[in-house]
Amino acid sequence: MGSGQVTDWQGKHVTVAGLGVSGVPAAKVLHGLGAHVTVVNDGDDARAREQAAELEALGVTVRLGDGDTLPDGAELVVTAPGWKPDKPLFAAAHAAGVPVWGDVELAWRLRGLDGRQAAPWLCVTGTNGKTTTTRMLASILEAAGLRTAAVGNIGVSLLDAVVGDEQYDVLAVELSSYQLHWAPSLRAHSAAVLNLAPDHLDWHGSMEAYARDKGRVYEGNRVACVYNAADKATEDLVREADVEEGCRAVGFTLGAPAPSQLGVVDGILVDRAFVENRQKNAQELAEVADVDPPAPHNIANALAAAALARAYGVPARAVRDGLRAFTPDAHRIAHVADVDGVAYVDDSKATNTHAAQASLASYPSIVWIAGGLAKGATFDELVAESAARLRAVVLIGADRALIREALARHAPEVPVVDLDRTDTGAMLAAVQEARRLAVAGDTVLLAPACASMDMFVNYNQRGDAFAQAVRELGA
Ligand code: ADP
Repeated sequence: MGSGQVTDWQGKHVTVAGLGVSGVPAAKVLHGLGAHVTVVNDGDDARAREQAAELEALGVTVRLGDGDTLPDGAELVVTAPGWKPDKPLFAAAHAAGVPVWGDVELAWRLRGLDGRQAAPWLCVTGTNGKTTTTRMLASILEAAGLRTAAVGNIGVSLLDAVVGDEQYDVLAVELSSYQLHWAPSLRAHSAAVLNLAPDHLDWHGSMEAYARDKGRVYEGNRVACVYNAADKATEDLVREADVEEGCRAVGFTLGAPAPSQLGVVDGILVDRAFVENRQKNAQELAEVADVDPPAPHNIANALAAAALARAYGVPARAVRDGLRAFTPDAHRIAHVADVDGVAYVDDSKATNTHAAQASLASYPSIVWIAGGLAKGATFDELVAESAARLRAVVLIGADRALIREALARHAPEVPVVDLDRTDTGAMLAAVQEARRLAVAGDTVLLAPACASMDMFVNYNQRGDAFAQAVRELGA
């Protein structure tokens, strides 16, 4: 199992680490290719048993309750991306000289199997904005008449896109830092790192390790490495990457673009990278008003998507049409309702401080609902930068004390209600408190800056609970 494509899976002993969204399909595909598949899983609950029974019926071996022991004879481990690199299973694999691939690496290696056309990948990563940018990119590619899909953590799974029946010209691929960690041989046509802020540091171990994993997306790029001119760390990653001869660094900026950049001039999105004679010329792509919502961070997302599409050779008109056709996903700065002159906005997807900062920067006077699982983050910078916009704060969730302490340090005059609750019903109480504190013209903003799993199944359920509570206010 070197770095090339494995064409003959017949009889190969493959260990799939982790049932779940990536593990079950990986096990099925590998089994279908003739490999001897053993799935190992830490948990042994009802859901795991159900999934195990389904796989065992196909002839896959499943070991529940022990995700740490490498099965005898394993030649390859295919891991769920979320499994931490310091797990004993990986030490055992390493000691035995057994390679470890993530779900993305597996998909990458299975491209072009059976003589299929292998569609190039346009990849998007970053701390925030990945899903939005990837979907914008797919929308632009579609507007250009290309057969494409937004894949990764959204829509079609990468594995399906690669081995399924549908044929694609090009894929818009969202990649997380975990996935990149486990995808050593991935080589994108072009890729963008949107921004880089501390997140998931408990998983990666350090900011350096996190940045290194994000930076892998640029390795071996053929046409363009797209970076954020306002975020030097992304440009540094381009500089450090080993790319194909002729691959270009292309920046995006909310200001006027320099040569080899995309930017904004008088409300117009402008390309000065993929034009003839970029010292003199610029190509108009779309208007800021074509981007929904036209918040600054989202215009940056649109520019990054446009840069990747242009790197692939898409005409300017398709950029405009694709952005116009794009509608944002739920729980991303979604306007829920106005009640008594106060706007209620659900940005439940703001699961880290960098995202929350972008959404807090979008409104002038805010009653902020925050808290949840901090994932090792600190809140001083977020609070200090947002203090002037805060009418009041309502705190919920397990790690709310961290936010309360940052508020005491940097915004001592802002009223804070600490609900001291982590039950699901706390959202209704939070919205009621926020209503009491808000004044006409304010925005009540759910931008928790934290993950949701202490109180909710996921951020969707958290956002739904917020919207439901707002509806109860209006009733
Ligand atoms: P991801 O897939 O990276 O989690 P999303 O597109 O789902 O990103 O957006 C997640 C949240 O991040 C949004 O709700 C918004 O608050 C914030 N966000 C989106 N784009 C950006 C950006 N370019 N910079 C900072 N924050 C952003």
